[in-house]
Amino acid sequence: MAEPILRVEDLWLQRTQSDILQGVNLEIYPGTVHVLLGLNGSGKSTLAYTIMGCEGYVPDSGRILFDGHDLSGLSVTERAKLGITLAWQEPARFEGIPIGKYVGLGKEKPSKDYVSSMLEAVSLPAKYYGYRAADATLSGGERKRVELAAVYAMKPKLAILDEPDSGIDVLTVGDIGMLIRRMALEGTAVLLITHNDGIVEMADAASLMCAGAVVFTGKPYETRRYFSTRCMPHIESFGSQPWDITQPEVQAALASNGERRFLQVEEGKND
Ligand code: ADP
Ligand code: MG
Repeated sequence: MAEPILRVEDLWLQRTQSDILQGVNLEIYPGTVHVLLGLNGSGKSTLAYTIMGCEGYVPDSGRILFDGHDLSGLSVTERAKLGITLAWQEPARFEGIPIGKYVGLGKEKPSKDYVSSMLEAVSLPAKYYGYRAADATLSGGERKRVELAAVYAMKPKLAILDEPDSGIDVLTVGDIGMLIRRMALEGTAVLLITHNDGIVEMADAASLMCAGAVVFTGKPYETRRYFSTRCMPHIESFGSQPWDITQPEVQAALASNGERRFLQVEEGKND
């Protein structure tokens, strides 16, 4: 089997006195779509920012290996040069430049045809959108499409897509599915972050994030089943994450699901 393009090893990250990432382990293989599923507040975006090397997201311990490089100490720009791209959960604010130009920014002298095909890949007809200003007049869904077209146009080795299906005027699962399959076929590893388990089945592999750690990795249907039987019942009892794992009922529920990790966290970290 191929070597993973991304390997996250026992990654810990603390923000304002609590551990948001609690020993994350994750492996992603080249040219595959890997879904990272988890309830709101489970730490998915934090993991994405930490992999990308965003300011303030320096891990306390653990490491991230990408394509043979240890990313420790590398800036966002250096990581981008190695081939990592992140599409934000909240799309970037554009500067009013033409959409076609924005989409081609990551590429040296992109041809008009190249940019058009990137726009068409996200169902934005180039003749209507290519010269339109990328500005606040675009709807939320249009902005997300433009952002995804820009990520696709860069042809990164790893594309991290943070909740492309969330927000106003959402993209459909079909829209996203077509694009990520195309990216994977062209050799990009896609880390697709979502809290929507309906999107899991379009992946090659899926991991479930819960309370700051990856608690399960497997085939998409296995991860989806784990999520619906072991994770979703908790949201009904305790609400959205983060849960207060010092509460006895939370501990009991997690322990009864065989989540030994929480007990270890409690023993090791509770002071
Ligand atoms: P997700 O993307 O899975 O919804 P996040 O990574 O955004 O989760 O957040 C995980 C947890 O970390 C949440 O409890 C959130 O409130 C907390 N958190 C996120 N960013 C910060 C920050 N900059 N400082 C402190 N806590 C944060
Ligand atoms: Mg998020």
